[in-house]
Formats: sequence, C-alpha cells, structure tokens
Amino acid sequence: MPISRRTFLTGAIAASFALPTAGRLLAQTPQRMMPRNAGIYRFKLGNFNLISISDGILNPPAALFAGDVAPEKLKEVLQQGFQGETLAVDCNVLLVDTGENKVLIDTGSGLLNGATAGKLLENLQQVQIKPIDITAVILTHAHGDHVGGLNGKSGFNFPNARYFIGKQEWNFWTQPSVDLPNFGGPAEMKQQAIKIAKTQLGLIRDRVTQFDVNQEFLPGFTAIPAYGHTPGHVAIRIASGNAVMVHTADTVHIHTINLWNPSWKPIFDADRDLAATTRQAVLEKIASDRTLMFAYHFPYPGLGHLRSRDRGGFDWQPVNWQFES
Ligand SMILES: [Zn+2]
Repeated sequence: MPISRRTFLTGAIAASFALPTAGRLLAQTPQRMMPRNAGIYRFKLGNFNLISISDGILNPPAALFAGDVAPEKLKEVLQQGFQGETLAVDCNVLLVDTGENKVLIDTGSGLLNGATAGKLLENLQQVQIKPIDITAVILTHAHGDHVGGLNGKSGFNFPNARYFIGKQEWNFWTQPSVDLPNFGGPAEMKQQAIKIAKTQLGLIRDRVTQFDVNQEFLPGFTAIPAYGHTPGHVAIRIASGNAVMVHTADTVHIHTINLWNPSWKPIFDADRDLAATTRQAVLEKIASDRTLMFAYHFPYPGLGHLRSRDRGGFDWQPVNWQFES
C-alpha cells in the first residue's frame, strides 16, 4: 500500500496519535462558524439510562484501516460506502447511569487530537450531569482517542471517579520498557502511541482498579477479552435485567471497510493478525446472538445491530432514532 510518509503522518495525527503540541494549538482556537447538531443521544437498557455523547470526529486516511489491501479494492469499498479517501470517523463516548453509578466508558481525545475532537465536556454540558458527578470511568484501552480526555488544562476532568482498566492492558503499558513489535505504522507513530499511553495511565496510577475479564467488575459491567488492537483491549458487556448490550470499543473501526471485511487489517493494531481473529469472533457472536451493539467509531450515535452477510463480513443496521428514550 503506497502511503507516502507525509500522508501517513497526517493520518497518524488524525488517527489519535497526534503530536500533543499541534493538537493543543488547534484546541485553543474556538471556532463556531457553523451551527451544530446535538451531540447527545439518550436511550434505555433495562433500568439503566444511557447517553451516547459525541467527542467529535477524526479525519484519518481510509488506507490506515486497510493495511495490506490493494488500492483498487479499497477504492471499490469506499465507493460502495459513499466515502472518500479521507474519512470522518466519529468518537462516541458512552455514559451509563445505573442509578447507583454514573459510568463513562472512555474519555475521548481531550486536548490530543485537534479541534474536531475533544468535545466530550462541551457536549456533556447539554445533559444534567456534571463531570464531578461521574463516579466511574472504564477505559477499554490506552489509545489517545480513548484516554486523552482523562485530563484537561486544569487537571482531572472527572475528579470524583474511580478508574477501571483491564489487568492485561494496564500491565502492558506500565512495564518499564514497552514495545509493539508487530505494529504496522512508522516508528514515530508507534513511539507517540506508547508515550501517550504511559503519560495518561500515569495520571490515574493511584486511583485505578484493574479488572479481570469475563467477570462483573462493577454491577452491570463485564469485560470481554478483545485482544489485538492493543494487547489488553476489551469490549464491555452491559446488562440490566434481561437487557444486554455490547460496547465493542475498537474491536472494529469503520462500519464499511472493516465490517464488510473483518480480515482487513488496520496498520495501527498492536497485533494485526490477532486483532483480525478477535474481530471476526466477537462480531460473529454479536450477530448470531442478535445483541444490541454500541460502537465507539461508528456513525453517531453508534447504536445498532449486526447481520452476517452471505459473502462474508457483516452489515450494520443502526437503530431508528428514538425521540423519547
Ligand atoms: Zn479508537
């Protein structure tokens, strides 16, 4: 895949491995040229009240999500998906109010990825929940577009929260010397990803609870191992009564490219082969169980179902917009 170094690095910035300085400069320039649509969407799961909150979008090149695929093949899929070579990728942060806890799953980009992302706090203002009311933050993995929003200019964004992350993810990034030998991007991108993970996880060192997979670590929340994208990446199963939903985090990225072709490998996955196997297995189970799915990077609000396709891969069936939650 001929991705020039320049395109690559531009993409790297957009794809959450941003150089923090560039991001900060952009983020300091508030621009409200265009009227904005709502960045909140409420829905229910059993007795839980949920809100999909937009953190904004990233604009990476599509080629990043289809590492070893011939350009003509990718072009064909982009055409079928009504997408261009530069994508608009949503970042959907989930807030779950269980009654007992107000739980946030991931935190968006914060100041790391420029002005199109990092809108979680701004959009949170639209609901009657303040950042100090958040009692738990669950981190699915330690990439910049998920952990960047842990802090802002004046410290912790969610100062009263307990922080939860999988044991395997925590142990990987916090070892003294971290490497990603199977990473498919350039060295700078890799180093930046490692630096961001170490810095952001360092912030919560004294407040973190490490959870085991496949057991409820918070009432209603169970982590499903979905390793590959990062070494300890997890999906989160949320259950209230008989109602179940799976938050797939970054098990799958793009609802066209990666959902139609789960074997196509994003270049930034830590272990691209493992990530592809995981993707197929997790998606297959969701499709066959007909489970409600929440996807961090799918078109906002990221809520819907999967259907297996005869020719392989899956189709995304978004839920109808509900005006009453
Ligand atoms: Zn992500």
